[in-house]
Amino acid sequence: MINIVLSIGFVFLFTGCFGPSVDHSDSVIVIDAGHGGHDTGATEAGKREKDLVLHITQKLYKEFRSEGYRVYMTRGSDHFLKLGQRTRIADKKDAQVFISIHANAIADRSRFDDVEGIETYYLQKTRDAKSQRIAARENASVLQGTDSLSQNVIVDSVLNGPKIIESHKLAIDVQRHMVKNLKSEFDKVKDGGVRSAPFYVLVGASRPSILVEVGYITNTKERKRLFDSDYQEEIVEGIVEGVGSYIDNRKKEINF
Ligand SMILES: [Zn+2]
Repeated sequence: MINIVLSIGFVFLFTGCFGPSVDHSDSVIVIDAGHGGHDTGATEAGKREKDLVLHITQKLYKEFRSEGYRVYMTRGSDHFLKLGQRTRIADKKDAQVFISIHANAIADRSRFDDVEGIETYYLQKTRDAKSQRIAARENASVLQGTDSLSQNVIVDSVLNGPKIIESHKLAIDVQRHMVKNLKSEFDKVKDGGVRSAPFYVLVGASRPSILVEVGYITNTKERKRLFDSDYQEEIVEGIVEGVGSYIDNRKKEINF
């Protein structure tokens, strides 16, 4: 009897120490580099948002793959995608998670070095003026040719969907891990928090979806860091860890 108890104890100990690493092969992730082609996104001091976010997304792709996820990019090169094309890819691949990567900017040149920080957004109408301004800037290019009535209809169609709660949870996990990783290696990293805003790139998404503003290209200190490969590495690892934490928690909710 003691032998059996000891053996069982040993098996638990053994699997506890050397158990298989988490299997992510059933998790599909779609990552979206914002802008592209004629749409440069924010630009400052010769640096362009479309190039930065493509670079970060390519690194993200490699990192998700090495962690065993099935991962797809909406664009892997410098070309423009129309509204709906980005989230349609997420639907086609039946992704668990859709992540759009962007860099932030402000218009007021006199405040360029006052405004910085990493922010994660999920789709929701908002009364917050700052979030509205950022959404308006990011929406400008994807909304070309869409009248305001259809814009309201498409936003309203998803605003009360169950995906808002899931997207909010995903945003919290991703933001927390990104900020933790960046703060461990860099001084004075500003946590801009999780926010809601009506981003049109997230409208067509029928799955948990977030938009990450990795930093302000208009801020001298942050622009330098954004193009630093160590800084990019911390962002990428933070996003992958955040998604992992979100997916693991959903799996636990289903099991219990
Ligand atoms: Zn953008």
